[in-house]
Amino acid sequence: YAENNSAETIFTKIIRKEIPAKIIYEDDVCLAFNDVNPQAPVHFLLIPKTRIDCLSSSKETDAQLLGHLMYTAGQLGNSLCPKGFRLVINNGQEGCQSVYHLHLHILGGMQCGWPPV
Ligand code: 5GP
Repeated sequence: YAENNSAETIFTKIIRKEIPAKIIYEDDVCLAFNDVNPQAPVHFLLIPKTRIDCLSSSKETDAQLLGHLMYTAGQLGNSLCPKGFRLVINNGQEGCQSVYHLHLHILGGMQCGWPPV
């Protein structure tokens, strides 16, 4: 994707605390913060501090980090949405990705529907 070429995104500035975000969790390798345009009563993003532009460009050497993100999403989801939640990763143009720094959407605080569209 052409969008992948830039060295950093708005999320890098959030990681560096150069622009404000409502941070709900942080550790050595990832950061979670509320989405600025929430699509559910609870809607936060979980991102790796090291930029991967999208899931499909991740490397096998990213597998431990990806596992940590998934595990952390489960823990945070359980904490903030004990009745259930949804994880979404938008990937690439047709996946509706707009920010090319890998992020997991965690959505909850409501009854989700299925199929999603
Ligand atoms: P995508 O479509 O790439 O999966 O989702 C990007 C998400 O990032 C969107 O839900 C959008 O609302 C959110 N977002 C974009 N810019 C900012 C920002 O500056 N701060 C925060 N907190 N969220 C942002």
